[in-house]
Amino acid sequence: MRDELYQQTILEHNRNPRNFKKLPGATHLAEGYNPLCGDHMWVYMKINKQNILEDVAFEGQGCAISKASASMMTTALKGKTIDQARVLFEEFHHLVIGKLKPDQQPNHLGKLAVFSGIWQYPSRVKCASLSWHTMHGAIDKVKSISTE
Ligand code: ZN
Repeated sequence: MRDELYQQTILEHNRNPRNFKKLPGATHLAEGYNPLCGDHMWVYMKINKQNILEDVAFEGQGCAISKASASMMTTALKGKTIDQARVLFEEFHHLVIGKLKPDQQPNHLGKLAVFSGIWQYPSRVKCASLSWHTMHGAIDKVKSISTE
């Protein structure tokens, strides 16, 4: 049952978020804010000359969903190219608004597919996608992202 997996994954990443730190020497960073819920975070990336995301980290405060989503995003993006990160951003965005059905359509989401049911809770969609919008902004050198 995907709902159960979703719950467990969120709780686990919320308790033990990965890459939850400042990243010294970050080449790209942005601040993201979701006024609907109060989620507030910074996403840091170290992108090398080959356009590979060598390191990705985040810090801040937010609900369990925003934190778990950011945590999973950092692990999913490490080692990816900017182009691959943009593809994942698009796929994740389509996933959380219910446009992409991971069981039926080809995608690169892997474990991120646990968020597939979240479109049924519109108020939580922004929580799940905040870190992704912030990361996307950081790539494009946009320093501050608000989901409204
Ligand atoms: Zn939230």
